[in-house]
Amino acid sequence: MRSIRGETVSGSAIKGLELPKFSIGVGDRFAHQAKAQLAACIKAAEVGIDVIPVWNKSNREHTIIGSEPAVTRIAADAAVKELGWTKPYFLDADHINLKTVGRFLDSCEFFTLDVADMIGQPAKPEDVAAFLTAHPELVGTVTIPHINEPFHTDKAFVEGVANKFLAAVQNAAEIYQLLVKSKGEGRFIPEISMDETDYPQTPIEMLIILAMIADARIPIQTIAPKFTGRFNKGVDYVGDVKQFAKEFEEDLAAIAFAVAKYGLPANLKMSIHSGSDKFSIYKAIHDGAKKFNAGVHLKTAGTTWLEELIGLAESGGNGLVVAKEIYAEALAHMGELTLPYATVIDIDQSKLPSAAEVNGWTSEQYTSALRHDQSNPAYNRNLRQLLHVGFKIAAKLGPRYLDALVADEEIVAKNVTENLWERHIKPVFLGL
Ligand SMILES: [Zn+2]
Repeated sequence: MRSIRGETVSGSAIKGLELPKFSIGVGDRFAHQAKAQLAACIKAAEVGIDVIPVWNKSNREHTIIGSEPAVTRIAADAAVKELGWTKPYFLDADHINLKTVGRFLDSCEFFTLDVADMIGQPAKPEDVAAFLTAHPELVGTVTIPHINEPFHTDKAFVEGVANKFLAAVQNAAEIYQLLVKSKGEGRFIPEISMDETDYPQTPIEMLIILAMIADARIPIQTIAPKFTGRFNKGVDYVGDVKQFAKEFEEDLAAIAFAVAKYGLPANLKMSIHSGSDKFSIYKAIHDGAKKFNAGVHLKTAGTTWLEELIGLAESGGNGLVVAKEIYAEALAHMGELTLPYATVIDIDQSKLPSAAEVNGWTSEQYTSALRHDQSNPAYNRNLRQLLHVGFKIAAKLGPRYLDALVADEEIVAKNVTENLWERHIKPVFLGL
């Protein structure tokens, strides 16, 4: 049970593994920074706030790098052991579907069921009809506590939402059942993600989707909607911050209402994907979560890989040489690198420095262009986005890249920890 401004809201009790209130998804593309990432969570614990690490890596990233989830598992377990972390931690099979879930079964206990591809595929007419019959409360005036204006819906609207999302939820149920069979009920944390789609979901759509998820008996503990505005990889939010804040709070209200009404898990919380570096909305996220006494899962990924590059560049010497080489190669292969991320990046090619120019840079010039400090005039969001998707180049360098990480471990780790702690955990979870 939890309380929203004094009211009590109850959902169903969690059976088995439970995701704590605050958690941060940390991607570690090359499985070398688990300790540095965990160190940021330790800093949070030291000031009295539990932020639980969840190591996430998608099938797409594993495929691009040529890695396996077992490697992430080994790195996370080793870091936890070495730093004496006694609180929970999880490994997230990020954005999986029926086709890709297999390789993650042994190593993960958090599964992000990606149903974005199924959104808009019509469900069977009899299933849509059954949903409408089961939920007369969604038709007409729908009042969600803590949302000022009630929603007015009609049968056609709810039918439309069902036609857009029911097949996707049914698909998620299929993946969930497969996981129950293979891992056992309560032995993993399910999330449903709908972020990699074209249209943001409105709060009333969120409520209707949650009703479908409850009907399909998927005890999700996190849900990742698509929010209004652009969530480009590795750079700040682009959009109307006020509008985001309003929608975020209304989504929180819809979640709290659905938890109580449909008996979803009591700890169900929002998962914010592409959540790294969205500095301008962190205050809204913090304030909204506080107001609703809600949990937050902030999923970051590429941030750590960019901090590796910053650390290498900062170290000078061979690290800087490797960082320059990666930029040159990324620039030469821009089309191929950006293709899988077309909807989540926005690069102005005319603002990218040439490889020759970057080759002449000092450590400071490189780190100033790359480090996400918007107050620095040398910061270049186009270069940052290109390098964000450029990890394939580092993967191709193989041992040359990994050896550089080991050689400059200290300075790389310092950047990784500081970035998560100062720029992410502090504003989102502590409101600082
Ligand atoms: Zn996502």
